[in-house]
Amino acid sequence: MADAELSSEADLMGNIVNLAKRRGIVFQSADIYGGFRSAYDYGPIGALMLRNVKDAWWYSMVQQRTDVVGLDASILSPPAVWAASGHLQNFTDPLVDCKHCNDRFREDQLDDPSTCPNCGAKGSFTEARAFNLMFKTQAGPVEGAGHDVYLRPETAQGMFINFKNVLETSRKRPPFGIAQIGKSFRNEITPGNWVFRTREFEQMELEFFVPPAEAEEWYRYWCQERFDWYVDLGIPTDHLRLRAHGDDELSHYSSDTSDIEFLFPWGWGELEGVANRGDYDLKQHSEHSGERLEYFDQQANEHYTPHVIEPAAGAARSLMAFLLSAYAEETVNDDLRTVLHLHPKLAPFKVAVLPLSKKDTLTPVAHKVFTTVAERYMADYDETQAIGRRYRRQDEIGTPYCVTVDFDTLDDDAVTVRDRDTMHQDRVSIDRLMAYLGERL
Ligand code: ATP
Repeated sequence: MADAELSSEADLMGNIVNLAKRRGIVFQSADIYGGFRSAYDYGPIGALMLRNVKDAWWYSMVQQRTDVVGLDASILSPPAVWAASGHLQNFTDPLVDCKHCNDRFREDQLDDPSTCPNCGAKGSFTEARAFNLMFKTQAGPVEGAGHDVYLRPETAQGMFINFKNVLETSRKRPPFGIAQIGKSFRNEITPGNWVFRTREFEQMELEFFVPPAEAEEWYRYWCQERFDWYVDLGIPTDHLRLRAHGDDELSHYSSDTSDIEFLFPWGWGELEGVANRGDYDLKQHSEHSGERLEYFDQQANEHYTPHVIEPAAGAARSLMAFLLSAYAEETVNDDLRTVLHLHPKLAPFKVAVLPLSKKDTLTPVAHKVFTTVAERYMADYDETQAIGRRYRRQDEIGTPYCVTVDFDTLDDDAVTVRDRDTMHQDRVSIDRLMAYLGERL
């Protein structure tokens, strides 16, 4: 967080939610109908930011690697997949009702399991019931006569059930990974904390298949690699930690899991889980499907079931952490400016082109500059209001560079480029503008 930040941690969340609404980052879904609880829509600025988070993940996990390939699997899936994965039996949260006020809670999230946090009643909870988090629906035109299908509660199973397809078509061999970004759905009992916990969300998951003897080493590698990804994109290390699960938290198939956690205004919260899942998933699907999901190691002349290391992250939670880390209120010449010091990769617009005034003489030049810049960068164009106010608007959404076309431009073929963080301004000839931006973005 910037030193000049004036708002306290407690205000920070409110400020972010407010900014998000005001500037078209995140809206409450179905706003005009009173809002649909726990669902959110990403506005013009938010859609760009969310896409940038996902692109940054894809860039580092797929594009920059020779040992990972991508996948885009279906959201709807038959019960067989979830019977094999264990989700039909085990993907549950313990649900309790308060008999006094009828509010519902996840028992494992209660600070004091004997007191209702809503009405304060003591000993008013029902016995905990296992509540399955999967959304179930019917496929087929006749209501009640279709087949049961599930909306996936994680993207991971898409990678496991396509393991053989990918192995046979991609010329990869362990250690190699399959990566996917996509929507997942969970009927969360207690959605909340803005976009932190919603019923519909996007995951960014990698299933990395390795020879069993290398699993431990790859697990450590991915914990470090994923931690560094958040730091490289601007999250301060004092707001990030890697927390290893205790034995009581581990799922039955996982030998090691660590969560990458961010210090949210309400405390530490999970951004991503990195798990050593052993051979559980491939073995389960082998058994249930009858397909052999193994790798034949020619050198050793043996078949083996690869072990899996899974870094599983959430796009919205990452976006939240990036926003919270970037937000600052700074005093500049007795004026307060709100600024998002976002990493340029995450900034919705890299550049804003701002003609000094809306005059016929400036508009054609400014349009030309915009067209050139927009060939390479997502850029904004804004020609109304005083220039100072336009700079502030761009600061608020984290635009790293503002390019101003003024009346001198007509004589010197140069523009003024303003840096978001330092507010320093350079005069740059239009010929050199793309090179200037290229050195900085
Ligand atoms: P939590 O303990 O917070 O419920 P989880 O351990 O069940 O999360 P995973 O199954 O490990 O989550 O999913 C991987 C990632 O997907 C999480 O780290 C998180 O970023 C994201 N995620 C999971 N559930 C939600 C949700 N309901 N809303 C938004 N993101 C989610």
